[in-house]
Amino acid sequence: MRIAVLGKLFSHPNFTCDLCGREVFEKEHICADCKEHLPYNNVNFCICCGRRSLHEGYCIECRAHAPRYDFARSAFVYERDAKRMILRLKQGDKYFAETLADFLLPMLVDFPDAQLLAYVPMTEKAEKKRGFNQAKLLCEELSAWSGLPVFGGLSKVKESKMQKSLGICERQKNLKGCFKVTDRRGLKKKHVLLVDDTLTTGATASEIADLLKKAGAKRVYVLTAASVPDRRIDERR
Ligand SMILES: [Zn+2]
Ligand SMILES: [Zn+2]
Repeated sequence: MRIAVLGKLFSHPNFTCDLCGREVFEKEHICADCKEHLPYNNVNFCICCGRRSLHEGYCIECRAHAPRYDFARSAFVYERDAKRMILRLKQGDKYFAETLADFLLPMLVDFPDAQLLAYVPMTEKAEKKRGFNQAKLLCEELSAWSGLPVFGGLSKVKESKMQKSLGICERQKNLKGCFKVTDRRGLKKKHVLLVDDTLTTGATASEIADLLKKAGAKRVYVLTAASVPDRRIDERR
């Protein structure tokens, strides 16, 4: 895989830890102490959705409803400082895209055959309101460092009405018609890596994977900064 060292996409307040403010070496975003205590998602995870799970192999939800993506992985469990980093990114501290991408980049080895990056789109209205799409920022960071091109043919055409109480099946139904592949050029037979900030139930990722596959993609993998553990589902979008 090509690792291109390109210019930084965002100006980053250098020399202090993004989490505790302690002094760090140049180009480090998080100090060694904070790094040590991050909730890494590298043990006891479902081999399909990648969420922390008490079950070996597939978690209960993936056993009941196999997702349309091939498999998903996340750098962190959505809790403590990982949750804080994602919330700060969504609240407008865009340099957290770079901080989080530092942890996602080494994970690209889990997807050695990925040819194309994609990101979970927002509706035009929602993106305008926030001023940016955090999934796109993460995706662009990964593209800048890996050299993998970004697929821009996905759109979110209507807001999904999701409720905390809904199971994955109902969530899936509510997502129907929310996303669209508006331009399928360059997608045929490709292995796509879909990037997002958080995987909650995986219903969104599964719906988009379904659309990408129907539009010609051969495989769809998912990489998120964090994922919500099995049976601790909360709402974020
Ligand atoms: Zn720190
Ligand atoms: Zn699972």
